Amino acid sequence: MNNTIQKVDVERLYQHVLSIEGVKHHIVDPQKLNETANYISSEFKKYGLKTNQQTFKVEGTDMVFKNIEGYMGDDSKPEILVTSHYDTGDDSPGANDSGSAIAAMLEAARVLSSENFSGNIRFISFTLEELGPAFAQGDRNKALELGIIDENHRYTSYHTQKMLKKFYSSVTLGLAKSKPIVDVWQKAFEVVKDNLTDSEKEFIAYMIKTRSHITRTSSVGKLGLVGSDYWVKKALEVDKKIKGVINLVTIGYSTKRKNTQFLPPLMNPLWLPSYKVKARKRIGDFIAVVSDKNSKELGKLFCKNCKNETIKLPYLWARIPFNFEKIAKWLYDLIRSDHSPFWKENIPALMITDTANFRSPYHHTKADTIDKLDFDFIKKVTQATIATVIELTKITNG
Ligand SMILES: [Zn+2]
Repeated sequence: MNNTIQKVDVERLYQHVLSIEGVKHHIVDPQKLNETANYISSEFKKYGLKTNQQTFKVEGTDMVFKNIEGYMGDDSKPEILVTSHYDTGDDSPGANDSGSAIAAMLEAARVLSSENFSGNIRFISFTLEELGPAFAQGDRNKALELGIIDENHRYTSYHTQKMLKKFYSSVTLGLAKSKPIVDVWQKAFEVVKDNLTDSEKEFIAYMIKTRSHITRTSSVGKLGLVGSDYWVKKALEVDKKIKGVINLVTIGYSTKRKNTQFLPPLMNPLWLPSYKVKARKRIGDFIAVVSDKNSKELGKLFCKNCKNETIKLPYLWARIPFNFEKIAKWLYDLIRSDHSPFWKENIPALMITDTANFRSPYHHTKADTIDKLDFDFIKKVTQATIATVIELTKITNG
């Protein structure tokens, strides 16, 4: 195992992010979105993996979307999945979200395929993890019509930028409490309402109206996670067996500075299992391993591998003893990525993350660029992922 994980090449990780950095959004840059899909697929082919492009359409656009898959072994047997997403928000180059995860997934695929390895493993990069087309196009059209953004998706006035930021941060804070989504949006609206222009008011009212039917649990596959939700639904239709899922998402931002780490409310780092975490100084240099009720064993295995002598990756294990429904209600921040559709179906899945906006000031901004990333950190995450896959395979083969 140690020989295998030593093959992880930090320079290759860097080159992947360099190749795919840039806005990958179905409205703003559909070409870059498709180029990235092709890049991932051709890398899988280079490593000798079998590939598949799962195509689908969604409400709100005529575009065809695709999840990109590369796999090895016998696909009729239970598979281990290593996943990432390749789309970005409409104005972020997404070096960390989720270029870092794609790089780790590709490098894990290369290393594992170079070994004479008998595991059944599927690597998937999902599309449309970010805001779904049914909302993205409508929001954009409305904002353009009202003149509050320009063609480059910049707010046309400082007032609007300030007010919308305030509104969105109230939404984020509100979602951390266990209220229905529509109430959270309405409450956030009340916070800023008196200071808004008529256009700003109309825009927010439009967003609330179009989201009024969305609940915390039904947000999966609608507000976002569209590609992974589709993949899981199709997998259930053919009764596909999944051994476990390692979902990599924003894994590249690490810092030694004090007071850089925040956590979602209700999560106290001092209560959670950890390794080399400086919780009291709030230093953001660890990986977060997030498991639900069904993925406790998987989480334990991943954490064990973080402590491997050649890896030594600090971790915080958010070992949540609840199922999807309860997590959606109480810890909404933890269902924000592609592991959620799996959790929803009681399939063991982990979210592996640097905690995104709870650590990085660049998350979902134009500043999410390659120069901010710590590739030695990404290397360790890749190694822990490979080690976990190898051990899981042994369990699979019983
Ligand atoms: Zn994101």
